Parts: sequence; structure tokens; C-alpha cells
Amino acid sequence: MMADYLFDSWSTVARRLGASRRIALILDFDGTLTPIVSHPSLAKVPEAVRDLLKRIARLARLRVWIVTGRKQDDLEQLLAVPGVQIVGVYGGTLAPAGAHAMQELCHEMAKSLAGMKGVWVEDKAVCFAIHYREAERATVRRARRMVRSKLPPGMQMRRGKCVWDVAPAGFREKGDTVRNLLARQPPLTLPIIAGDDGADESAFAASPSALTVRVGWSQKTEAKYYVRTPRELWEFLRRLEEAVA
Ligand SMILES: [Mg+2]
Repeated sequence: MMADYLFDSWSTVARRLGASRRIALILDFDGTLTPIVSHPSLAKVPEAVRDLLKRIARLARLRVWIVTGRKQDDLEQLLAVPGVQIVGVYGGTLAPAGAHAMQELCHEMAKSLAGMKGVWVEDKAVCFAIHYREAERATVRRARRMVRSKLPPGMQMRRGKCVWDVAPAGFREKGDTVRNLLARQPPLTLPIIAGDDGADESAFAASPSALTVRVGWSQKTEAKYYVRTPRELWEFLRRLEEAVA
């Protein structure tokens, strides 16, 4: 399916927003609400966007969630906005034994990759991410071979934007979490789902009636609409406030 440019279809979208009694706004963080930066700790959301989110979360018809691949407390530190609920590591959890095994694998992987410039491991307790945005191509190839060779059976490696996410096979996907979250909403709730990466595609597919927005054009997406940049997503949020207030 080809996504339409959101602002070309704005009158249709605005009508839908205006007519809905309840809205569940589900946003991704990195690459969606904030531009991708060289290191995740450098991500920033402008004060004006925080204020906008705060106002949107106060609207009676709206509920706001951020469902992120980041660790819950990591994002809570970066972006604490009253009324905005944060769901970390896409809502994935593990039993203590599984989490322990994951930690061991994470440490082992970090040791194996230690000499590779620009490659680093982010421990998320129940899974981990290997970042390589700053690494040279040859190093990335070497790292990929290394990670694959050390990956025990029953583990999966998913590719994101300059990152590999490692988790047990069958670990909860973003789409599962979004589906569960939407199942708890009152009838006639319009879901709005925005994201920028491969992991968001399962979320787009979670609800056929949702207003789905991919940040960054992609030929293959489940989203109905796209915007070009996080800045354009901010513009969407501004217009959303206008249409719903
Ligand atoms: Mg993202």
C-alpha cells in the first residue's frame, strides 16, 4: 500500500478527528517525536512540543501514550509530561530466569564487541540493543558477523535504524502491545498511531481503522499517511489540537 502525504489529505483527516468522540494517540519516540541523533542520550524534544503534548494530554477526548523501544525510566527521564503514559521496550517483559540469561548474553556481547569503534551495547534489562551509527562500514560487517556467531538458538536479532535489537524469539512486538492497549479503550475510540521504523509497522497493522502516520516516506508501509520529518509530526500534533479542542 502507498501512503498518502498527510497534509494533502488534511480536510478528510480533520473531519475524522472532529467527528471522533475519543482518540487514543500512540506515538513512537526516536525518529518520530524527535529527530534521530548520533547518540540516544542526545535526543531532545523542544519545550514548545512538550507544552503542546501537555495540552493535548489534557483534552477530554484524548489519551496519549508513547510506546518506545527505549527503557521505561530512560525515556521518563528525557520526557516527563503530565498525562502522557510511557510504555518502555515496546511493552516486553521476561520472567526473572529469562531476564537473567538475557543480562549474561548482553555482557558477553558487550565484551566481544568492545574493540570495535563506534559499536556499543545498550542494556535494557529484558533485551538489549547494539548501536552502530558511528561505526565504519567494515566495522559494522565485522560486528554483524560476531553478533550472529554468538547468538544462541532461541534469540532473535531485529534490524532498526543503525541498531540491532536482540531479544528472545517471540518477545512481544510493538503491535501486540498496541493491540492490547487499544482493546482496553472505550468503543468508538479512534486510534492514531505514529512511528518511523520497521518496528512500527506491526503497530500500524494492529488496528485497521486507525489513522496511521509514518514519519519518513517508505515505499512499503502499512501506514495510511506519511509526513517527512519529526518537525512535520509536530505540525500534525498542532493541527490535531486545533481540530479536537
Ligand atoms: Mg522510532
